[in-house]
Formats: sequence, C-alpha cells, structure tokens
Amino acid sequence: MKLYDTHSRELVDLRKKPGEKIVGYVCGITPYDEPHLGHVRTALVFDLFHRFVTAQGYEPVFVSNFTDVDDKIIERSAKLSVHPFALAEKYERLYYKLMDFLNVEPLYAYIRVSQVIPDIIEAVKQLIDKGHAYVTPDGVYFSVSSFPDYGELSGRKVEDMSLLEARVEPSPFKKDPRDFALWKSRKPGETIWWHSPWGDGRPGWHIECTVISVKFAGFPLDFHGGGSDLIFPHHENEKAQSEALMGQKPFAKAWMHTGMLRIGEEEMHKSLGNFIGATEIMSKYDPDVVRYLLLSTYYRDPVTFSEEAYNQAEHTVSNLRSYFERLDWVSKSGETRSQVIYLISSARDAFNNALESDLNSSAALSEIHKLIAQLRVEDVNVGEALLVKEFLSHTLQTVFGLRLTRNRTVDESLIQDVVELRNSFRREKKFSEADDIRNMLLKHGIVLEDTKDGTRWIREQ
Ligand SMILES: [Zn+2]
Repeated sequence: MKLYDTHSRELVDLRKKPGEKIVGYVCGITPYDEPHLGHVRTALVFDLFHRFVTAQGYEPVFVSNFTDVDDKIIERSAKLSVHPFALAEKYERLYYKLMDFLNVEPLYAYIRVSQVIPDIIEAVKQLIDKGHAYVTPDGVYFSVSSFPDYGELSGRKVEDMSLLEARVEPSPFKKDPRDFALWKSRKPGETIWWHSPWGDGRPGWHIECTVISVKFAGFPLDFHGGGSDLIFPHHENEKAQSEALMGQKPFAKAWMHTGMLRIGEEEMHKSLGNFIGATEIMSKYDPDVVRYLLLSTYYRDPVTFSEEAYNQAEHTVSNLRSYFERLDWVSKSGETRSQVIYLISSARDAFNNALESDLNSSAALSEIHKLIAQLRVEDVNVGEALLVKEFLSHTLQTVFGLRLTRNRTVDESLIQDVVELRNSFRREKKFSEADDIRNMLLKHGIVLEDTKDGTRWIREQ
C-alpha cells in the first residue's frame, strides 16, 4: 500500500503484508455545531481506505477523536446555557447518525478529549522535563525553538508563522510567537477544568491528538489523516510535540490530507451561506449518491458539490444499480468464455492497483465503468453474469460502500398488484389495456420485462 506523504512530498510504501496491522489516526470533529459536508468527505475517504485494507486482508486500527474540550464548545454552550458536555454529546450523536446514514463503518475507536485528561497531564509533564515546554501564569507552552524540524510538514517559513501564530493565540507570556498552548489556565466563569500541577485548567487544542493516537493507535503511526486545512498549525504542532515527547521520528510514516470541498464555484463556509450540514444532508440527499460523488474524485484533489454534479452522480448510481439488478435476469446458458474471465480478472487487478496506489478512487471507478461498457447484460450467460455480479458486489458494495440493491419494500406490493392486473388482461387477450398499464408504469420509471417465468420489473431513471 502506497500513500502520498505531505511531509516528504512523495509516495511512501507502507511495506505491509496481509494479516499485518495498518495503524492510523484521523483528526475528528469539534462537536459544537452540526457536522457538515467537508467532514463527510474526510469520513468517506477514510471509510474507503478502511474498507479497502480490510478487503485486502490487512488489519486496520484506525482511531479518531472528538474535541469535546475546546473554546468553541465553551463559548456556544455558555450562549445556549447548557453544559459544554451536553452540547458536545448532542453533536456527537448527530455525527454517528450521519455516519450511519452514509453507510460508514465504525473505526477501531473514537475517543473524547475529556476521557484522556490524566494522560494529557502526564504528556505535558514529560515535555516540560525534556525541555520542550515551559510554565507561565496563563498556561504551559510548547517551545517551538526547542524543535529544529518545526515547519517541515507545512513548508512554512519562520516569518509567516510568527505573524499567524501571534494572531491565533496571543499571550504576553509566550517566549516566541510560534509557541502554542499545551495547557490553558482556567479563566473566570469557565465551567470545564481539571486540577493540574500548573493550576486548574484544560488542555490546549493540539496535545489531545498526540496523546490519543499514541495511547489507542500506537507509535509510530502508519498514517495520520485529516483535512488539508489542518496542516498548519494543527498538524505541524502535533508532529513537533509527538516527536519531541517520544524522542523519535517519524510520528507518522505518511501524512494524508483530503482536498477541499467546493459548493458550486466557492469553498464551503458558514459566512458564505453555502454551508451544508448533517440535517440537510440526511433530509435532502441519497446517501449513496453523496458517497459516489465525493469518492469519484481522488481524495487530494478539490471536489465540487453542485446540483449538476449531484444529478450526474445520481444518474451514474442509477445506471450501476440497474446494471447490477439486470444481471439477475440473465437466463442464457452456455460455457463461461475465457475472454470474459480475462476481462474481469484484469479489471480486478487494475481496481486494486489504483487503490493500492494512494487510494486513487477515480481510477478505480473508471475500471468498473470500462468493464461494464465491454460486457452488456444482454450478451452474457448465467455463469458470466454471476462472475460480473461477484466483481461488482466486491468492488462497489464491499469496498466503495455503495448499496446497489434498492429498497423496494415500500411500494413493491402495490407495483406487484398492478403487474398482476396487467397479467389478467393479457390472459383475457385484452392487449390494449395491458399495454396501457405497461406505459403507465413506464411513466413512473417502472420497466417491465415478460419472461417465460413471469413478469419482472425494475426502476429506471
Ligand atoms: Zn488532530
């Protein structure tokens, strides 16, 4: 399995054999508001990764977190007059609901910051002891100048960072504007805090990911993932404090970053009013179409979510479903042709190679479309149809997580009754009435096929 590493800017081979663990960490959400489509993209990319390595026989140990101790949670919960943990729990539940809706398989562990406070205090103590951190009246800071590799991941120059960091976390006690908080002293009125050797307070943002990944995934990580907006300062800081704490590098063999999400022509931002949150996603969209749309682009590239892109993805998913379902109708007998076996096995190899090579989902999907274009349902026999079906079931359902068999329970019995009515007209040789029913169903996207075993139907779009 090869992954593009943001740090070295090249492909890194994880050198794993089936049966071995692939250990990784993905930065999770801050549950102060609804998770949105940007979070969905990252979750789907790592779900595809998780599903693929599982299918290839590796053992994934993927860990993620909930930042339930954070400025944004404290501010919003104060405004709403609820406890910060009640607010965090509400949006954690919504996140799980959204993941379930999107058919995302659960990762190995999701850990809240509030579950690891003693471990964080221990890590901060060690960083102070090793000379990488210092205590001030408003908290404990990581000393960037104690870590010469700082800036390597993001490729930032010291001058740029000074400006940015000074704006993000101003403090009169910092020795260097780039230094960042490991522990923040309690401010008046704050409702979540813990005792520590440096007074009451709470962790800074970055230290949680170091502590949770080392404790629950392991060190070093095979990969560390997240949105590309996290590269600086979050991942730069995580890398520095983790390697300083462990006295070894690298923290992660590969740093994986998902590209940005555009809504139409623009990046998604709350301030632009083009924010698509969990509630809207679950009420307006087909989860499989969202999944297809967001995974049909290679994860490092920007992806555009627009009405046009959605409609196109919907059309493609509908065609894939229809192809998949029509394979069940094949009744032609005959020997399995060797060229069909060859086509399928080459498609399978190309599919696996595309995903083994930095999870190139767009190349993997195009192998599937190529195969389907070469093998029309009308031309294959029963044995061949089974092979194609098995291939699609593995690639699209197991690895890509798409549900190809439509849920027909809602109005299936009604359609079946109408089909029965048409059959009774046909038995009475009332062909014109029977045709009227066929055309009426067609108007609603229901296609009938009369076979010697009876009449079958599918939904076409
Ligand atoms: Zn993180």
